[in-house]
Amino acid sequence: MTITPVKAFNDNYIWIIGEGSRAVCIDPGDPAPAAEYLSRSGQVLEQIWITHHHHDHCGGIDALRRAYPEAAVYGNADIEAATRAADNGLQIRFGDALATVWATPGHTAHHLSYLLENSDGLHVFCGDTLFSAGCGRVFTGTIEALYESFQRYNSLPEHTLFYPAHEYTAANLRFAAHIEPDNADICAALQAAEQASAPTLPVNLAHERAVNPFLRAGLPQVKARVEALIGQPCDSGLAVFAALRELKNRF
Ligand SMILES: [Zn+2]
Repeated sequence: MTITPVKAFNDNYIWIIGEGSRAVCIDPGDPAPAAEYLSRSGQVLEQIWITHHHHDHCGGIDALRRAYPEAAVYGNADIEAATRAADNGLQIRFGDALATVWATPGHTAHHLSYLLENSDGLHVFCGDTLFSAGCGRVFTGTIEALYESFQRYNSLPEHTLFYPAHEYTAANLRFAAHIEPDNADICAALQAAEQASAPTLPVNLAHERAVNPFLRAGLPQVKARVEALIGQPCDSGLAVFAALRELKNRF
């Protein structure tokens, strides 16, 4: 089984899972690079998994289904082109692997993640919920929901791999370094991301626990720094998390 990032637009990744001559495409916002990859690799598109309704994630569904009419489209009820309703807990089989749908709202009200388990371990296609060293902005969801989604991710084993839909790593790490200037892991990751010519993704949960401020909101040094920056106390992990999101919006 292969998991390949296909670049789209400025900084999107369409992740394509391949198994023999069959493929799953996650969040094809732009059909052209996905179709080009499939034809070059000789794979037939069997399934499309959609994390949320933003156009840069689902804009390519119709064109891909014209090329691959048999492809099943999984998504929340707010995805018009979906052919299968994906609800929290749904299990989807692809080859020998099984994916489980998790509701991970916050960025949008109905954002989904797809957790694929295969012989290599656990792979989370997290759309715009978690980015390396960051998180999605709150659009139609709530900050409370986003915080809960992060708690849910954080319950996974540390070697779990995350496959976000955007290459925002370097910019996010600059913000992380602003929050924790003395954190050596963040400095090293920032240097690596700024020099990277290839995708910085996927990332594992252990790495994210070390560098992602939104997974570190419960730590005393992060709380103290956030309180100093906003000039008021934060009485919970959620309050620190929400303040971090506000600070990032203005960074
Ligand atoms: Zn989005």
